[in-house]
Amino acid sequence: MPFVEFVTAIRGITEIAEGLKSLHDFKQVAEASSQLLQRLLTVESEALSLHNEYSIVLQQKSDLEKRLLEFEKWDDTASQYSLKKLVARSFVYVPNETNKAPKPMHYLCAKCYGDRKKSILQTIYVGTGGDRLFCPECKTRYEADSDDIRELDS
Ligand SMILES: [Zn+2]
Repeated sequence: MPFVEFVTAIRGITEIAEGLKSLHDFKQVAEASSQLLQRLLTVESEALSLHNEYSIVLQQKSDLEKRLLEFEKWDDTASQYSLKKLVARSFVYVPNETNKAPKPMHYLCAKCYGDRKKSILQTIYVGTGGDRLFCPECKTRYEADSDDIRELDS
């Protein structure tokens, strides 16, 4: 707890300085000066520690402010989407039917959405067996029916 040590060291300096007035012996003055120097070195050391801790706290504050902004930004983005079960029974997020909804029509990866990331699914074709959606961020694949894919063209 550097602040307590800092204050204690300052108090010690004050006491030694006040005691200097009553000293008349050279040896006692030299000893008090030595103690004073020791305390000043302690104060310097504690001041540096406090400065370092202050810098760390400032950095943490800045990081937390950035995270808060990201959370607020994500909340705004997340409010524009709703969970939907595709015909092929995969769950994705789709834009809400509001004026605020982003265009063109697209699906978001449910896993990335849960991780507070907006990742637009891309359509990949796997032969004649059906379509799949692919998340470029987390590489998750989603089963999709042709009706699901047609909805993307609307
Ligand atoms: Zn994803």
